[in-house]
Amino acid sequence: MTHPSFASLLDYVEDSLPREARAAIDEHLAGPCSQCSVELSRIRAALGALANDDTVAPPEETLRRAVAAFRARPAAPPRVRIAAMLVFDNYRQSPLAAVRGPAARARQLLFTAEGLDIDLQIHFAEGGATLVGQILGGEQPSIVRLHRAGEVIDDVGADSFGRFAFRPVPLGNYDLVIESDSREVAIEGLEIHDAG
Ligand SMILES: [Zn+2]
Repeated sequence: MTHPSFASLLDYVEDSLPREARAAIDEHLAGPCSQCSVELSRIRAALGALANDDTVAPPEETLRRAVAAFRARPAAPPRVRIAAMLVFDNYRQSPLAAVRGPAARARQLLFTAEGLDIDLQIHFAEGGATLVGQILGGEQPSIVRLHRAGEVIDDVGADSFGRFAFRPVPLGNYDLVIESDSREVAIEGLEIHDAG
């Protein structure tokens, strides 16, 4: 069994992991894995002590490793933001697609941004939509976030083929932001609504 790294457990405690990575650790802990559970409670104690500066002394070794892991994190360089351009929209190509009934109720969009293509499919259902996509080319994306009115609504990881899925998504206008180490590619003003 592979245990999550100390750094991942630290991120887990701080709730800064993408949902899928978090779920993988949940599953590992439910194994159960007493070793990681103990490690986790040590980290919680150490971070709690750092935050509260109270009298509980964390185990020194854990504290040392936590501090070292914090320091080892690369200072995040400012990410370059690139706006993706729409190159294909089946609703525009064929406006009737929107009104052809359930069989045609999928909107297909293709966006492009410096060396990256983003294929999106929106499947409409009662009161919402499923948004699935695939990122082709470029660096391995770290996370895909869905923003609405400046707030992150949801985030997901992409698999090794660059595929990701959000479901269900209420109808509305969104920004879809694909983050990788050095940059973020944004599809701004993505309208998720049924009428073409
Ligand atoms: Zn473990």
